[in-house]
Amino acid sequence: MLLEGKVAVVTGASRGIGRAIAETLAAEGASVVVNYQSNAAAAEAVVAGIRERGGQALAVAADVSDMAAAEGLIRAALEAYDHIDIVVNNAGTTRDTLLLSMKEEQWDVVIDTNLKSVFNVCKAAARPMLRRKKGGRIINISSVAGIVGQPGQTNYAASKAGIIGFSKSLAKELGSRGITVNVVAPGFVPTDLTAGLPEDLVKQTLAYIPLGRWGEAQEVAHAVAFLASDRAAYITGEVLRVDGGIGT
Ligand code: NAP
Repeated sequence: MLLEGKVAVVTGASRGIGRAIAETLAAEGASVVVNYQSNAAAAEAVVAGIRERGGQALAVAADVSDMAAAEGLIRAALEAYDHIDIVVNNAGTTRDTLLLSMKEEQWDVVIDTNLKSVFNVCKAAARPMLRRKKGGRIINISSVAGIVGQPGQTNYAASKAGIIGFSKSLAKELGSRGITVNVVAPGFVPTDLTAGLPEDLVKQTLAYIPLGRWGEAQEVAHAVAFLASDRAAYITGEVLRVDGGIGT
């Protein structure tokens, strides 16, 4: 197992890609804090599944766009498991519309959920990770939209591009202490987030994906597990696209 004895915090782990990440890290031996915002039943189901398979997990509710709540999440992780080795900032949302019709609230909620949350959780987790002097792994989930842009997603693409700049900078701040900071940028993956996309748009996306299909949450999770492991010890400040080639 790649992550025996490690402790991981995964934000937005009740559904979709975050769920696959939490389950994969647990299958690799990590104890996992399964963060969610409001869907307690889904988060508890993820935890129950991990425990049934012999793993360790705990569900913790926290709106990570709120600094105090993010601090509470990290406190809860430390109380349960004593320390944190791996942080995966995965929580995210969309409010898609063209710029001319985008309301300030739609801009703010996407920036706060997707980008400010990364600042909040990294800031809360960095000090205990540094104090422990055992290094660590921070993996932030961006999107191919943050690399190549997407009409109707100025808010989302800005938040996801922001994650890349943030992560490259933090990698330079924390590298000397053995904490790596990397980004995983998925392409299209079927989850609740993409469930509402019109069928013709889904068909159109396929024409632009060199591998000719959407990705699976599990494929993103494998990339995260690799970056979280000792095998990725000399990789930091990197953006790993898991997108079937669409962002090339
Ligand atoms: P999803 O199925 O909609 O799940 C979103 C998760 O985030 C849920 O667990 C939700 O918790 C949680 N969440 C939302 N706001 C939160 C907040 N303020 N605080 C804490 N948790 C919060 O989304 P997904 O498709 O798996 O996406 C996961 C990540 O991958 C996102 O960052 C997304 O931008 C990125 N991504 C997705 C795709 C794709 O095609 N799906 C492509 C590229 C990048 P509740 O269950 O409690 O609501």
